Amino acid sequence: MADVNWQNWSGHVRSTPQKWLKPKDMTELRDALRAPDGHVRMVGKGHSFTALAATEGTLISLDEIPGTVLSCDRNAETARLQAGASLNALSRGLQQQGLAFKNLGDIDVQTLAGATSTGTHGTGVGFPCLSAEMVEINLMLASGELVTASTTENADLLHAARVAIGSLGIITDATVSVRPAYRLHRRTFTRSLQDTLAHAMGSWRTHRNFEFFCLPFCDHAFNIIHDETDADSFGAKENSDSNAVMQLKRLRDLLGWSKPLRRALLNQVARHQKPEEMIGTSWEMLASERNNRFNEMEYHLPVDQGLDALQEVLAVIERQRRDVFFPIECRQTAGDDAWLSPFQGGPRISVAVHAWHEDSVDWFFEHVEPIFRRRGGRPHWGKMHSLTAADLRELYPDFERFTALRRELDPGGRFLNAHTADLWGETFGS
Ligand SMILES: Cc1cc2nc3c(=O)[nH]c(=O)nc-3n(C[C@H](O)[C@H](O)[C@H](O)COP(=O)(O)OP(=O)(O)OC[C@H]3O[C@@H](n4cnc5c(N)ncnc54)[C@H](O)[C@@H]3O)c2cc1C
Repeated sequence: MADVNWQNWSGHVRSTPQKWLKPKDMTELRDALRAPDGHVRMVGKGHSFTALAATEGTLISLDEIPGTVLSCDRNAETARLQAGASLNALSRGLQQQGLAFKNLGDIDVQTLAGATSTGTHGTGVGFPCLSAEMVEINLMLASGELVTASTTENADLLHAARVAIGSLGIITDATVSVRPAYRLHRRTFTRSLQDTLAHAMGSWRTHRNFEFFCLPFCDHAFNIIHDETDADSFGAKENSDSNAVMQLKRLRDLLGWSKPLRRALLNQVARHQKPEEMIGTSWEMLASERNNRFNEMEYHLPVDQGLDALQEVLAVIERQRRDVFFPIECRQTAGDDAWLSPFQGGPRISVAVHAWHEDSVDWFFEHVEPIFRRRGGRPHWGKMHSLTAADLRELYPDFERFTALRRELDPGGRFLNAHTADLWGETFGS
């Protein structure tokens, strides 16, 4: 009989693992793997929207393994990091050493292993996803053997393990390319959607980090810019995201029946939004809290397709789905060469749609995903999509190399679950 209930952050994915193990050291971790029974999935903070960590077998998390920054080399600007530690704890640990991650996404509660396993990214044309910054990875295989993959040792494994969706082994720690600690000047402002789109490529070129959020039924977009500065810190980040989302929900509930009224009101609110600016520590400026639960689909599109895809998505939502109220996020990330990185081969523009956690996500698949797919998008591994091996093979030149290596390292399919078996084209029995 199952004895643990597990659910992801949004509550959309649930499973009942037989065991949820939290080993305290490598010996306990190896013992957990050597036990003969069933499938094993690793979980970080459960912030993926897909069933990546769901299992009826054994769930393993590394959050009781002590340590954050295990060592660092200030000259080489690298740090060896505990893979089960959160990006927030790691940022604090790095700061004590005068170091910092080069970039971060919208939040920093994810674990290093969880974030990198799905190709978690921020925004900025000069910055690849976090996985690409890993220069050495220590991995415990299904056999319990500990292997090291780096640019000089098992280089193929490094390229595969940087984004491996928990399918090659358990990442125990990784050496990550970092940089001296720095401060960022954060500016947020609304601008017409037309101007935001017209200037987007320029904004990405000019600013260290640029992203924007646009709203269905509104002609304005919320722009966020970060630039590096030596100036003193000022201002404090308010967690206004939650309030704004709740206001948008109320507006949808009250005025969803009238597109013109909704548009007029949203435009008026957007026009009166005051620009804000502040300066602070890099990780505090880049990452925010997200307190409203939602589900999400994000695709990474070729740069020449991204903004057109976004406009098509906005148009179809306005035509078909009055219930949608969450902002749509648009970012750009530099390319890398990890076999299954969505950014493999060149930079991509990412477009993300969200749905309130109690609302239906059927429109992601019915209306939005076909646009992303037609335009050559690759899905974020941790966010909702419907792709399986046959589709993924077309999108990733190194897909077969990855699946062959996966079979070699995990011949018994220990790390499979139903979802990842679909991704890799394997059959799955419980
Ligand atoms: C509110 C919110 C905001 C987000 N913002 C962003 C964003 O700005 N940018 C972005 O790209 N993504 C974003 N995401 C997605 C998120 O970064 C990814 O889904 C990430 O994988 C979650 O990390 P986690 O630690 O929760 O991992 P989990 O979701 O728990 O696991 C993710 C994968 O990692 C594997 N894994 C976990 N630990 C290990 C290990 N030790 N060894 C091997 N494999 C392991 C799991 O098996 C699974 O396959 C966001 C998600 C949420 C909910």
